[in-house]
Amino acid sequence: MHLKNKYVLAIDQGTTSSRAILFNRQGNIVTVAQKAFQQYFPNPGWVEHDPNEIWYTQSSVIKEAMAKADVSENHIACIGIANQRETTIVWDRETGFPVYNAIVWQDRRTSDYCEELKEKGYAECIQQKTGLVIDAYFSATKIRWILDNVKGVRERAGRGELCFGTVDTWLMWKLTRGERFITDVTNASRTMLFNIHTQEWDKELLELFNIPPVMMPEVVSCSDVFAEVATPLFKSPIPVSGMAGDQQAALFGQLCIEEGMIKTTYGTGCFMIANTGDKPVVSQNNLLTTIGWKIAGKVTYALEGSVFVGGAAIQWLRDGIGLIPNASISEQLAKAVSDNGGVYFVPALTGLGAPYWDQYARGTIVGITRGTTACHLTRAALEGICYQVYDVLMAMENDINYKPKEIRVDGGAIANNFLMQFQADISRCPVVRPRVLETTALGAAYLAGLAVGYWKNIDELKEQWSLDKVFSPEMKKEEASRLLSEWHKAIGSARGWALPN
Ligand code: ADP
Repeated sequence: MHLKNKYVLAIDQGTTSSRAILFNRQGNIVTVAQKAFQQYFPNPGWVEHDPNEIWYTQSSVIKEAMAKADVSENHIACIGIANQRETTIVWDRETGFPVYNAIVWQDRRTSDYCEELKEKGYAECIQQKTGLVIDAYFSATKIRWILDNVKGVRERAGRGELCFGTVDTWLMWKLTRGERFITDVTNASRTMLFNIHTQEWDKELLELFNIPPVMMPEVVSCSDVFAEVATPLFKSPIPVSGMAGDQQAALFGQLCIEEGMIKTTYGTGCFMIANTGDKPVVSQNNLLTTIGWKIAGKVTYALEGSVFVGGAAIQWLRDGIGLIPNASISEQLAKAVSDNGGVYFVPALTGLGAPYWDQYARGTIVGITRGTTACHLTRAALEGICYQVYDVLMAMENDINYKPKEIRVDGGAIANNFLMQFQADISRCPVVRPRVLETTALGAAYLAGLAVGYWKNIDELKEQWSLDKVFSPEMKKEEASRLLSEWHKAIGSARGWALPN
C-alpha cells in the first residue's frame, strides 16, 4: 500500500484514560478508542496507577481503534506516542515487573521533602539546570521515595537491576519487549534530573536525590524512527517515530511552531505553553522553562504555566457536592445569571500551581450572601478557571515581554462557550478554538509522520490547521479590572490555608 494512503496511529496515554486515534493524511480523525483505568488514592494526597493496567488498556485501545477502521498493520504508516508526564515507574530490567505502582504527577507525598530542599537553598541551582521550580509534581522526588520506601529496591537499583521511566519510556519498553529503554527530551525535561541546556542527565542532581545513573533511560529526540515494533501487537513491524509529553504534543498539534505562539489546554488542569524558539527563557515569575520539542537535532524551548485544578473544579461540582448533573450544563447555569453575584471560587483543591506554587492553599469560596444560587456558584467556578489562566498569562507576558496575538485552546472544557468568552474578556486577548480538538494525539501523529516522510514538512502541516471559532474580548476594561481585583482578594484568602499552625 502506498505510504500516503495509510494512517498514523497516535497513542494518547492520559491521566485517567488510555486512548488510540487513527489519523489520515489530512490530519482528520478516522477512529478513536478509549478506556479509563483505575485511580488509586491510598492516602490523602497520594495518587497511583497500576503500570500494567496502563499497558493493558493502551494495547487494547490500539487494537480497538484499528478494528473499528477495519485496518491491519499494513495500513499503518507509523506510531506516535503522547503521554501523561512526570508520572514515575520503576521496574525490573529482567522481568519487566514494576516494583511499585506508578506515582502520578498529582501525587503530593514528597511535598515536605521539597520544602526541605527549598529551605536548604537548592531552588536556584535546580531552576538553572532544569528550568523547574522545586515541587513534588516532578519525577525526581518520586523516584527517591520508591528507592527509600520499597523494601530491597535501593540495593537492586544500585546493582543495576532496575529501570526508571516516565510513561513514554514504559510504553516503549512494553512495545519493544524490553529492547528499547528510551525517553524523549520533553519527558526528560520534566523529571527535575535533566539539564535542559546540555540535554543530559545531570550528575549532581542524580547524586542529590541519590538515584543511581544506571536506572536512567537513554534520551532521544521527538521525531525519528526509534524502533520497529511487531509482536505482541502487530504481525509485521511498524515504526514508532514520534514521542512527546502530552502538553508539548498539544503545542505541536496546535501548530504553535513560531516563537511567541501560545496554547492553553483546559482539561483536569490547565496548561499554558508558549513557544520561545531556540532560547530557554528563564522565568522571573515562577513559570517553568521546558523543552518544547527536538526535531532534526534542533531544540525548541517553551515556557509553561500549570494550573492544577481547571475542568476538575466542574467535576467537583458534579461528583464532589452533586450541585450539577453533568459538566456541560455548567454553561447554561452560568449564562442564566447576569454576573457572579459577588461570589469568587478559588479552585485550589490541591494547592495552587503557577504562578503561586502554594501547596498549602486550599479551595475557597468567598462572597456568599442569601441571594447566592447554584447558578452563581457554577459561574464562579468557571470564572475561577479563567482567572487562574489569566494569572499565568500575565506571568508569561512579563517573562517574554510580549503580548500574544491570540491564545489557541484545546481540551475537554473548551466546548463551554461561556468559559471561552469569559477567558477572552478577562484576558483582553482573542481565544481561538480549532476544528480538531484532539490536538495532543494530533501532535504525536505529526511528530511520527514527519519522521517517516508521511508528511513532507511543517509547512504542509500548517495548511491543515483550521478554525472552529474565535472568541473576541467584549467586556469593558474597567469591568475586567474590577473583577480581577476581587479575584486577587479571594486568592489572598485561599493562600496558606493548610499551613501547620
Ligand atoms: P483530561 O485529559 O485531563 O482527563 P479532558 O480534556 O478530557 O481532561 O477534559 C475533561 C475535563 O473538562 C473534566 O474535568 C470536566 O469536568 C471538564 N469539562 C468537560 N466538559 C465541560 C464543559 N462543557 N464545561 C466545563 N467543563 C467541562
